[in-house]
Amino acid sequence: MRTPVRDHVPSRPTWRCRACGIAWPYSPAKLLLLARYRGDMPGLMVHLVTLREEAAAQLAEHDPGVQSTDLHRRFTDWMPVRSP
Ligand SMILES: [Zn+2]
Repeated sequence: MRTPVRDHVPSRPTWRCRACGIAWPYSPAKLLLLARYRGDMPGLMVHLVTLREEAAAQLAEHDPGVQSTDLHRRFTDWMPVRSP
């Protein structure tokens, strides 16, 4: 089993990009998510909330300084808000 090195996906439990080590999700990752969920913003929101909850649980142990408001801003607050 080989680990892909250049995939820009979050590593757990640090929630930094596996490829560049930047706190995930960062701009290119967000653009990828927006492209992948184009036309399905509710689906993207569900996806991000799920990830945020997972990150909150893992970061609580790994990095207790991380606040839930920071995670909200980082994971979900950047979503383009659009009424259906
Ligand atoms: Zn990356």
